[in-house]
Amino acid sequence: MAGSWIQRIEKALVLRQHEQAYRYRKQVSCGNNRILIYQGKRYLNFSSNDYLGLARHPEVIAAWQEAAVEEGIGSGGSGHVIGYSLRHQRLESRLAYWLGFPRALLFCSGYVANQAVVSALTAAGDHILADRLSHSSLIQAAIQSPAELRRFRHNDVSALQRLLQRFCVGNRLVITEGVFSMDGDQAPLPAMIQCTHTVDGWLMVDDAHGFGVLGAEGRGCCWDKDSRPDVLIVTFGKAVGVSGAAVLCQVPVAEYLLQFATHLIYSTALPPATVAAIDAALTVICSGRGEVLRQRLRYYIDSFRYGAQALGYALAPSETAIQPLLIGDNFSALILANKLRERGLWLTAIRPPTVPSGTARLRITLTAAHKYGDIQQLLEALANVKHT
Ligand SMILES: *Cc1c(COP(=O)(O)O)cnc(C)c1O
Repeated sequence: MAGSWIQRIEKALVLRQHEQAYRYRKQVSCGNNRILIYQGKRYLNFSSNDYLGLARHPEVIAAWQEAAVEEGIGSGGSGHVIGYSLRHQRLESRLAYWLGFPRALLFCSGYVANQAVVSALTAAGDHILADRLSHSSLIQAAIQSPAELRRFRHNDVSALQRLLQRFCVGNRLVITEGVFSMDGDQAPLPAMIQCTHTVDGWLMVDDAHGFGVLGAEGRGCCWDKDSRPDVLIVTFGKAVGVSGAAVLCQVPVAEYLLQFATHLIYSTALPPATVAAIDAALTVICSGRGEVLRQRLRYYIDSFRYGAQALGYALAPSETAIQPLLIGDNFSALILANKLRERGLWLTAIRPPTVPSGTARLRITLTAAHKYGDIQQLLEALANVKHT
């Protein structure tokens, strides 16, 4: 059997290449900036999730620097040992109060938070009902959990309702995103909560792309009472411009996670300076300055949609910073991304398995760090490549 490991690996790699789905990383500089640099050339960046431009906000940087000088760099251990400081505790309280939940727990990333919640909460005999287009971190967690996973058609409340009726033994955990990361559309949260609660199920919402940009003061998709789920995940690597995540939940759920979520117990806590930077970014987000950034972003979104529609592109029903252009096959999506890159625009072609097969797309993200002229430049390039 010598060589069987490498044979298996190489076979998978060849298959990937054959499917035009091979993933390459590109080494870029200033990827969190309006202009990024690749191989010495400048590109307008339409691929960043830093929707409000906070990754380079002076107050966020200053908060990080001050805390780093005061507290050092690494947190030094798990939150269960010595890694849980006053800064961590205050940020948790702030998030819980601001978002209207009894408790908040910090995690090092959204991916890990999703894994932790799904694996800690579910048991054999339970059912997880997940929107078909949920983020990979949710679907992977559900596949690995002892519960049985069923997926329902994207944003289809009656399909969810049917599944809830059909699988009535065990506890039911319904999973969705607030804003869908590859489509930019939003889940019908009040209706989903209602039908889930009617049968005593729980709803878990991952609001990675709504937090900071939608809702009053940027509280996200779940800011009003009618759309408050049982478990809410917010992440800090997108509109907050930093990294990390929090789980918002009831007191016993938080206590349960602290006892049983091994992802939390056996992992080094967020660095205190990261916590300080998140805190400073939240201060901008919930202030009038945050509102100005959100208004500017909305204006860019409207301008882009109006322009791209006029050019005859297939837009997704998205009101958010995520504006995918649906292309279809992998090859055409890659060609289009390359043509735009030749014109100095940085966009990513998103292909299966990240999105359903046959729905390869260009994922365009707009941010408040863009200038109005950038949106015009993007539209002009889209007009040009359409006729080449
Ligand atoms: C980005 C993302 C995550 C992962 O969050 P990280 O903090 O980057 O690990 C989880 N869920 C959704 C919907 C995301 O878009």
